This record gives sequence, structure tokens and C-alpha cells, in this order.
Amino acid sequence: MTDTKAVAARLTARLDELTAEIARLDGETTQPLSPKFSDQANDLEDLATNESLEARHKAEVEQIRAALHRIEDGRYGVCDNCGADIAPARLEALPGATRCINCAA
Ligand SMILES: [Zn+2]
Repeated sequence: MTDTKAVAARLTARLDELTAEIARLDGETTQPLSPKFSDQANDLEDLATNESLEARHKAEVEQIRAALHRIEDGRYGVCDNCGADIAPARLEALPGATRCINCAA
């Protein structure tokens, strides 16, 4: 049996972290490029890194929101496909997992 209260607390904390991080990245992305041409390549590289990081964070936010929904519904940690319990280690690695390891493949 999964301790969903602890999981929800952990996911909510992670959600706050991600939201703050996305806001920070957004702030950096809107900064103008360096006036010095030699710095602009670096700036653009940083931008690309920030954007892919932000996209990953947003994907994780979606997963966490879905997981919190499932916790509310009492469906968290139960495989959508076969109804078996999803292994805790799998949920640890993938909080948004909706299928057990056997059905995921
Ligand atoms: Zn399954």
C-alpha cells in the first residue's frame, strides 16, 4: 500500500520547485542579448539550454499534476491496464507512471 499522503506532499514540494525554476528561466529568456557580438553566441546557447530545460520542467509539471489527480481519485499506484500495484521503486523514478512495469512495454 502506497503512503499517498507522503507522496502528495513530496510531489507538491517538487511542483513548487519546478514552478519557481520555470519562472526563473522565463526571466532569463526575456533578457536582451549581450551588446558584444562575441558574447551573443554564448547567450544564444544559454537560451537554447534554458528552453529545453524549461520544456522538460513543464513536462514534469504535467506528470506531477496528473499524479496528484490520481492520488485524489484513489487511483495512484494502480496500473491502468491490469489493476496491479505499480512497484514503489517505479513510482519513485516516474511519479506519473500509470502502468506497471509489465504493461508499460
Ligand atoms: Zn499492469
